[in-house]
Amino acid sequence: MTADFTYAVDADGVATITWDVARKSMNVMSLEGFALLDSMIDRALADQDVRGVIITSGKKDFAGGMDLNVIAQMRAGGAQAIFDGVMQMHGVLRKIERAGMEPNTLKGAKPIVAALPGTALGIGLELPLSCHRIIAADNPKAKIGLPEIMVGIFPGAGGTTRLVRKMGAMMAAPFLLEGKLSDPKAAKGAGIIDEVVAPEDLLARAKEWVLAAKEADLVKPWDAKGYKMPGGAPYHPAGFQTFVGASAMVHGKTMGVYPAAKALLAAVYEGALVPFDAALRIEARHFTSVLMNPSSAAMIRSLFINKEALEKGAVRPAVADQAVRKLGVLGAGMMGAGIAYVSANAGIEVVLIDAAQEAADRGKSYSEGILDKGMKRGKVTAEKKAEVLGRITATTDYAALAGCDLIVEAVFEDPKVKADVTAKAEAVIPQDAIFATNTSTLPISDLARASARPKQFIGIHFFSPVDKMMLVEIIKGRQTGDVAVAKALDFVRQIRKTPIVVNDARFFYANRCIIPYINEGIRMVAEGVEPALVENAAKLVGLPLGPLQLVDETSIDLGVKIAKATRVAMGDAYPDAAVDAVLFWMADEGRLGKKANAGFYAYDAAGKRLGLWDGLAGKFPVAEDQPTLTEVQHRLLMAQVLEAVRALEEGVLTDIREGDVGAILGWGFAPWSGGPFSWLDILGAARAVEICEGLEAAHGARFRAPALLREMAGKGETFYGRFAPEKRAA
Ligand code: NAD
Repeated sequence: MTADFTYAVDADGVATITWDVARKSMNVMSLEGFALLDSMIDRALADQDVRGVIITSGKKDFAGGMDLNVIAQMRAGGAQAIFDGVMQMHGVLRKIERAGMEPNTLKGAKPIVAALPGTALGIGLELPLSCHRIIAADNPKAKIGLPEIMVGIFPGAGGTTRLVRKMGAMMAAPFLLEGKLSDPKAAKGAGIIDEVVAPEDLLARAKEWVLAAKEADLVKPWDAKGYKMPGGAPYHPAGFQTFVGASAMVHGKTMGVYPAAKALLAAVYEGALVPFDAALRIEARHFTSVLMNPSSAAMIRSLFINKEALEKGAVRPAVADQAVRKLGVLGAGMMGAGIAYVSANAGIEVVLIDAAQEAADRGKSYSEGILDKGMKRGKVTAEKKAEVLGRITATTDYAALAGCDLIVEAVFEDPKVKADVTAKAEAVIPQDAIFATNTSTLPISDLARASARPKQFIGIHFFSPVDKMMLVEIIKGRQTGDVAVAKALDFVRQIRKTPIVVNDARFFYANRCIIPYINEGIRMVAEGVEPALVENAAKLVGLPLGPLQLVDETSIDLGVKIAKATRVAMGDAYPDAAVDAVLFWMADEGRLGKKANAGFYAYDAAGKRLGLWDGLAGKFPVAEDQPTLTEVQHRLLMAQVLEAVRALEEGVLTDIREGDVGAILGWGFAPWSGGPFSWLDILGAARAVEICEGLEAAHGARFRAPALLREMAGKGETFYGRFAPEKRAA
């Protein structure tokens, strides 16, 4: 095994510890790596010829963080093992911080400086925070921060305790609670790092600092006498306000469903009341409890490990690289304009076609609008704007599609219009080009009939707004070949989004689950359930929007359109008449949702939501007896989750990782749960079946537990046990 760190001492007695993990483009910390770092620190502190230490990286970045696979393994050892492991880590970082200092006089330490060439995240910042000084190269692409909260944990290697003591709770809040990342200059401005220098001067400046450091430079404020926490500790009047406010704010944002946010706040609050070393112990205890919580395990699995695996092509067929060079986008409406923007922004040449030049130009000006906003915020330069716009040709002329290796069609949702543009494009594009449709409701295999090359025909389903939504659903038609799938996946990778690949079926995967969720909410309104109960039940279980707000956002008339088409397709088997009674009435009343400033919610003239519309009760009176919060939540969750299980049963989904990641990124399915399959695993199949039986008895067959779930309940199986990716047929 090659070593993750190397150690060298120069003629002036400055030791350099260089982090450079072999065969990885980014350093990540492993347990072995940490042990090696520890031994090198011991060596430097023990060696009388060493005057100080530089900790740096052999790569362009410093480190991406802890290897989250290691965190997943640590959990297997149980709570005590995690706590012991974390305390050991604290011991090493504390050793760096004290650096051989005599505890009473605070003298005799050796200077240790962190020299960061680029990105430093998670433990990659917690380690520098334990050093006496952090010097970063002026690299505007570098990201500095503690993003742990984004995957359901919090900085547990002293980052929480040190950042709060360095900056104060209020200033540290966005970095800890929101995982805010900054470039080096901004990080210096915020007080996270100490110095930014030209990249070529980084090591020389670090050495200069080590050689010039005085005893006082090596004592952290919290180790010095009379230390007071910036902004005030909890019982200081200012601190009191901060902590009370933070508690309310965090609860308001998370609805209490994210264990990491609560534990982080507790670690900060309790830690602020005690000396530094006790605070580290408190941090370790809360960190352990978060790691032992099934929610954090599920979040790490879905939001980090599996999301990354899908982005790296876990389900990609083994064919040659299919990176897109020239993209044709048909239809420059809301979706086409967005697809053109994200593609041009990723460096792809784009031909944007619409029926009228004016419409094509309008589609291109959408990119201009986004880039202008970016310029205002200082994120986009004039050159970058010109470059991106220069890549988009807006035209009505299909001949411009010559040489396109991928087409994404986003014209009206009408099979005839789609067939027409498919034929027109195929007449011009190369024989081996791939043709994708962005349809949201029409079966891919049906649309493929208009193609002369159905093997090269595929669905690439974006979500709106395209530039913000990170999920892309790739749909295989009956005849779609491997090259088309690889092309779609390589395209999604180029535009830096997350793909899932599903088979063709009504509403594919995401919409198939979202529609029953919306319908269940509307159905409850028809039954007389208090609309506020429906909406709050959803939010209190971690869904970003209640079903009534969601239908307002996507528009009531779209709901009506989908309901009518589904009714035609399903005939007598159509199960949603009760939903339509509400939906169609709302449409008749002109309450078409947010775009009409009137829907299930009332809006002011500027489009701001005011609250639930009180006119609804006139038509659908609120019943005397109301269900419990839990029952409403079970209905709303099971409506989505059972669809996900059916999609798996029917082979629409072929990988539960895609089902979970797709649900969180596609429609915000309770991220704390790790996704529908993770939620069922947390609940246990037997308990899930029991809930379904209760719901089925009270509300009908739509809640009948799928055979797969029953079978798993009988055998005591979990989804991640039974369908673990390594068990997939190779
Ligand atoms: P839109 O009405 O905003 O845009 C459609 C565009 O296609 C219009 O600019 C129109 O002029 C153009 N067009 C129509 N016929 C054409 C033709 N023959 N040749 C060239 N251009 C033509 O619609 P949209 O919301 O962008 O939806 C486009 C497609 O994307 C639909 O299939 C829709 O189902 C799908 N989709 C929409 C969403 C969404 O949230 N709106 C999400 C996912 C997928």
